[in-house]
Amino acid sequence: MIASILPTYSRAPLTFVSGEGSWLVEQDGRRFLDLGAGIAVNALGHAHPALVEALGAQANALWHVSNLYNIPAQQKLADALVEQTFADTVFFTNSGTESCELAVKMARKYWYDKGAPDRTEIITFSGSFHGRSSAGIAAAGSEKMTKGFGPLLPGFTHLEFGDHDALTAAASDQIAAIMVEPVQGEGGIRPLPDVCLKGLRDLCDEHGILLIFDEVQCGIGRTGKLFAHEWAGIAPDIMMVAKGIGGGFPLGAVLATEDAASGMTAGTHGSTYGGNPLACAVGAAVMDIIADDVFLADVNRKAALLRQKLEGLVASHPDVFEEVRGTGLMLGLKCKAANTDVVAAGYAEEVLTVPAADNVVRLLPALNITDADIATAVARLDAAATTVAGGHA
Ligand code: PLP
Repeated sequence: MIASILPTYSRAPLTFVSGEGSWLVEQDGRRFLDLGAGIAVNALGHAHPALVEALGAQANALWHVSNLYNIPAQQKLADALVEQTFADTVFFTNSGTESCELAVKMARKYWYDKGAPDRTEIITFSGSFHGRSSAGIAAAGSEKMTKGFGPLLPGFTHLEFGDHDALTAAASDQIAAIMVEPVQGEGGIRPLPDVCLKGLRDLCDEHGILLIFDEVQCGIGRTGKLFAHEWAGIAPDIMMVAKGIGGGFPLGAVLATEDAASGMTAGTHGSTYGGNPLACAVGAAVMDIIADDVFLADVNRKAALLRQKLEGLVASHPDVFEEVRGTGLMLGLKCKAANTDVVAAGYAEEVLTVPAADNVVRLLPALNITDADIATAVARLDAAATTVAGGHA
């Protein structure tokens, strides 16, 4: 008999009932150190007082009002995002995959309105992940995500991640957009070097192609800048955001330049819940904390501390780990042992990590994780690795 919850997830046998900071409490009372943060969602950890306060205040005033009317919390968050980024305008969604849907629509409408209605093709890369909607799976294109779900949304050219020659050959005045994660998350924590991001920008400029960054996982302070592409000193035309921006409340956004967004006039797109007052009140509180140089400097300091400890961990377990990869607090342990064994051994040591493709264990802790929690986390990972090395996972 089918489970009452559609069985699309393989879940660990863990049930968390409360959380505080980087800690989650299991129903049996065990306290787990959370290095997954809801897969980069709980950017400020669990139950951050400022977010609880923002949500509570908004809940007491007004839960929902349609986008038929003005929403002050939405305006506040949009203004903050426009002020802090390349973007001139923002549309709010509820998730990353909805942001992907709009990014694709926006790019197509842009060319339609420019008198090039056939300029619809979007270049994407192997190992990418853009969500589970029809546009999201067609964009990523992997068999794992698309098999059985055809006919797929047409209009995507899939290139091998890192194949510069293929990219240069495919880029032409017929391509509508290039969509890329500056740091691949699901694909195994694979950062695009700054020089490649700059090269992508140049290539797009040469052919008039729109550059779309998917910063759903790597954005909102995760790499130590508000958005990951800032390290390269370049900007996209369109950017997909979600996860960390809501700090745990479902919220996403598409940011764009005025030119890229020019086709999206009244009636061309919409969402019942997108930009809901509760979500935006929390999002504005998240931005208040994270879009701050002092906060981001501390993220970079902690990232260096965690990375240094992880390099030591890898060196002490050469049979389990191959290398540390990634940037900021978006780190991966490339494994020699099965990554799922390392994650499972972590459960036994009460530390939570997340598997990714390419046999990688992902570490995406809360951006405000304490130094003490970093030390405890690595000690627990060390114990987990010892178990795996001993073949007891
Ligand atoms: N894009 C990236 C880079 C992601 O990592 C994810 C989710 O993991 C998504 C899009 C989809 O986001 P959501 O699950 O909120 O639809």
